Amino acid sequence: MASTPLEAEIRRRIMLAGPMPVRQFMTLCLSHPEHGYYTTRDPLGRDGDFITSPEISQVFGELLGLWAASAWHRMGQPENVRLVELGPGRGTMMLDALRAAQVVPAFRSAIVLHLVEISPALRERQRQALATLDVPMLWHETFDEVPDGPAIVLANEMFDALPVNQAIKQFNGWYERVVELNSEGNLAFGMANEVIPLFDQLVPASLRDAPIGAIYEWRADNLPLAIGRRLAHQGGAALVIDYGHVESAPGDTLQAVGSHAFVNPLESPGQVDLTAHVDFQQFASAAESMGARVHGPIEQGKLLRNLGIEKRAATLRAAAPPNKAAEIDSAVKRLLGEGPTEMGKLFKAIGIASPAVGKLPGFEPEPQ
Ligand code: SAH
Repeated sequence: MASTPLEAEIRRRIMLAGPMPVRQFMTLCLSHPEHGYYTTRDPLGRDGDFITSPEISQVFGELLGLWAASAWHRMGQPENVRLVELGPGRGTMMLDALRAAQVVPAFRSAIVLHLVEISPALRERQRQALATLDVPMLWHETFDEVPDGPAIVLANEMFDALPVNQAIKQFNGWYERVVELNSEGNLAFGMANEVIPLFDQLVPASLRDAPIGAIYEWRADNLPLAIGRRLAHQGGAALVIDYGHVESAPGDTLQAVGSHAFVNPLESPGQVDLTAHVDFQQFASAAESMGARVHGPIEQGKLLRNLGIEKRAATLRAAAPPNKAAEIDSAVKRLLGEGPTEMGKLFKAIGIASPAVGKLPGFEPEPQ
């Protein structure tokens, strides 16, 4: 029995065409045009499945807005700049960012906003959230649709939502990890029949001696390449924040979350969020190979401290009624903290920029 309409569709496809790569399973779960997780809902917030930094505190978006204004200065203050956000969720971060950026009016008036979003439900949310802004804005399905010219790109918790491929090491090479039907007719993980040719030459050198059974993940989409190429050739800077590892490492990081709890990724396809860690080493080398300069990655806590989170929080606290001050403190602690449920260490930030930009704010070795 299929638990969801999408599970029925996935079984049908497996019966007709054989086991499907993990990447295809993840793509269907997240963005199937009718039953996909992001197609059908707004998953964010306390009542949803997960909560993100901009939804925890306005300070997050504000600091990113000031980061963007400062990057714009270092780009030589172009008269027209595309401010791009990838996967803007509810639009909260952009709203906070542009409010904070009002302190630099010349930057505010140089902006055309480009929002790259696959979810029709969230697109509508963003439209409502940003409706009152005095900035021209356009939506796109993909980053490639953003018109040429200098750009500032922001993305929080977007890359972890991009589907991953997985390969499993065996004694004679690497095999694609697939989703198949087991002998009881249930969805199960398995392995393709054929070895992936020459895969040993594609995995990072540090993984060539990985033990039998090790899993390697990669993203076949070329988004880090596209960002690197664009910024290197047309000018600009990107700030990408997500959870993941600084160096490529073996491991199965595919995870499913529903109602703020981990669940089995094969259960309830289309009704739970599926993500996988971002491999920042892969990200950096893709962007660098296109001529862009990479800054970091550094921990989110360090980035936010470098950008002055403590000062901003103190200002907010001073202006807040006493019962709100504790809320501000606990939100900031969640963004900076190093515990397993906090985001300061788990999340990393990477900067990508045209070499002409020089240093990027927030990535300096010492706090400003
Ligand atoms: N940045 C927001 C939302 C994070 S959730 C925040 O921090 O609150 C992930 C976001 O990425 C959602 O808006 C989701 O719809 C979007 N998304 C997922 N896959 C995408 C893709 N392939 N292209 C563009 N947006 C995508």
